Amino acid sequence: MCALYPELMNIYADRGNLLLLERRCRWRSIGFSLHQSGLGDELDPDGADIYYIGGGQDRDQRLCALDLAESKRDALHAVAARGGVILAVCGGYQLLGRSYQLGTETLPGAALLDLNTVRADGPRLIGNVAIEVELDPGERRVLAGFENHGGRTQLGPSARPLGHVLRGHGNNGRDGGEGAREGSVIGTYMHGPLLPKNAWFADWLIRRALGLDQPLPALDDELERGAHADARRAAGV
Ligand code: GLN
Repeated sequence: MCALYPELMNIYADRGNLLLLERRCRWRSIGFSLHQSGLGDELDPDGADIYYIGGGQDRDQRLCALDLAESKRDALHAVAARGGVILAVCGGYQLLGRSYQLGTETLPGAALLDLNTVRADGPRLIGNVAIEVELDPGERRVLAGFENHGGRTQLGPSARPLGHVLRGHGNNGRDGGEGAREGSVIGTYMHGPLLPKNAWFADWLIRRALGLDQPLPALDDELERGAHADARRAAGV
């Protein structure tokens, strides 16, 4: 696994997502090692099965956006082209789009997802959120978490939302979409952190990253199921 900007892009304990993936791999004797790529570092497109960017403040995002566009964009496109998993949360999600407009400044994005984000004057979109997703055809499931963003994200014609908002604001508080997905590239506004509240989704990512068709060996998920149920309850679903 490779974490991009783990020091700068780690709001709401988003690094907890990395820990959760590590534990669920180790508990099943799946080898796991964590690399990182920060400001100025090269990104090896073949160096990991999963690439991850957490959320961040506008100030830190600005630094990362410029570095991403300059030194990591091509590598991330190579990862996406070979079907590698890229997961991005909130500020990281915004950076996978085409642009992030902050007042008069427009930050570049990695352009992996066809979307643009504008930092609006209106209130921040804050609260518990639940969305319905269909990651595999015919299998509808719920992801639950917490959102807090000033940016409003608008999907372009070739982007698909990750899911439909059941409760909460989602991408822009208007169109009912939350996050975006293109193949194995996934962006979402959900913190929580996301994966400890949705362990089933962590397993989906691991399977996808390893190219496995069969389900992973079951774990004792009593606590994880409880965390998921609590997150859903908090969102009112
Ligand atoms: N700075 C971004 C915004 O407010 C993202 C915030 C976050 O990652 N929580 O829209």
